[in-house]
Amino acid sequence: MTAGTTDTTETPNEETRLAVTGATGRMGRAVLDAAAERGTLTVVLAVNRDPAAADADGSRAIEPAADLPAMLNERVPDVLVDFSGPDSAVEYANACADTGVAFVTGTTGFDDAQRGRLREASETIPVLRAANFSRGIQALLGAVGEAIGALPGYDVELTETHHNRKRDAPSGTAKTILDRIETSRSNGEIDDSDAEVSDRTYGREGIQPRTEGEIGVHVRRAGDVRGEHEVLVAGNDEVLTLTHRAESRGVFAAGALDSAAWLAGRDPGVYEFGEVLR
Ligand code: NAD
Repeated sequence: MTAGTTDTTETPNEETRLAVTGATGRMGRAVLDAAAERGTLTVVLAVNRDPAAADADGSRAIEPAADLPAMLNERVPDVLVDFSGPDSAVEYANACADTGVAFVTGTTGFDDAQRGRLREASETIPVLRAANFSRGIQALLGAVGEAIGALPGYDVELTETHHNRKRDAPSGTAKTILDRIETSRSNGEIDDSDAEVSDRTYGREGIQPRTEGEIGVHVRRAGDVRGEHEVLVAGNDEVLTLTHRAESRGVFAAGALDSAAWLAGRDPGVYEFGEVLR
């Protein structure tokens, strides 16, 4: 098992045994590709719910996730990396809790009950959930907080674009950015009236003038866009835009694998991607 390290730039000395769920999906494949290039990670199990899809991928040993707890007991991974769907992610987290395997998920679209079940699993195993595993988004979050604090009273609009197969909207990353905008507004040295804190407006149509403090949220779905998020802050005759664009899924896979290596062997609890980077 990999000893916990607080520096992700440091190469772990020991091998980390990895399980991957959602393995035939876009992100699952990116994780397997990235893992194959890391000498310190060994994929001991790659599963998908759909045996037909698993069988169709002749280039890899992807197995149907029929009885995941038994497979985890048999292959003994240190950590499981999941990019599937909210229901399955919760199911997989429970399987990890039952078998003592650390759990990393990049799946988005969880509701409150599902987030609660992930927290329950974290009483038994270390759990790390991130809506976005890119380092650039972490930097964007810091820059957004600074801009919002420095520009009280300015209008804020958020636009996100993803590929045309994405299911949840707005993206999990967009929600994280919105949370950061609202936290920055309420913590900053600015007027803390309700209008200044939160009022999300999802798209606009017809006669709908902007209200004070409103945050406009705009979602676009097209082509194979990996993920683009733009925060626009405007007022006082000036416009600031902060944009992040993921150019391949490899960036998310790399962050998830950094997280997996960092999380293996840690105490039970909830961890964040920002801790991995720090
Ligand atoms: P995808 O549809 O290409 O792949 C999902 C995979 O999970 C498929 O193999 C599918 O068969 C499997 N799956 C889906 N629902 C399942 C269920 N209920 N039970 C069992 N298996 C199930 O999707 P994707 O583009 O790979 O994205 C997967 C998830 O990761 C989404 O929630 C997406 O928003 C999220 N995502 C997160 C990040 C990040 O950095 N955190 C980056 C990209 C995508």
